Amino acid sequence: MTDTKQTAPQSKVEKSEKEWRAELTPMQYAVLREKATERPFTGEYDHSFDPGTYVCAGCGQPLFSSDDKFDSGCGWPAFSAPASQSAVAEERDGSHGMIRTEVLCSKCQGHLGHVFDDGPGPDGLRYCINSAALKLDPK
Ligand SMILES: [Zn+2]
Repeated sequence: MTDTKQTAPQSKVEKSEKEWRAELTPMQYAVLREKATERPFTGEYDHSFDPGTYVCAGCGQPLFSSDDKFDSGCGWPAFSAPASQSAVAEERDGSHGMIRTEVLCSKCQGHLGHVFDDGPGPDGLRYCINSAALKLDPK
């Protein structure tokens, strides 16, 4: 990505937990709203390399491009970069006795996964994202 300018986040999507529960599948709700992690190697997109844009399953914001997807072998979809820096928000997560960086959708604050610094790309980042948080918009 060459576009590094910070764009103001678009209007946020805010819904009640009841509304989210009605719109999302139980798995999507567990991941996006309750920060669950799907079991490894079970996600729909773990081994999908179809071209397209991965959008947020909660609000439809474009999050990741299939161009940045790689097979990390970790059991979840992995990306070397988000579609744009403004698409994701990052937060320090000290749960489960580890210090990790949580990745959230910047628009609806849905939990997506975590980012690690052992990726193969030039930035060395590995965005490890739950399939349930994503929807592939095929090219
Ligand atoms: Zn979202």
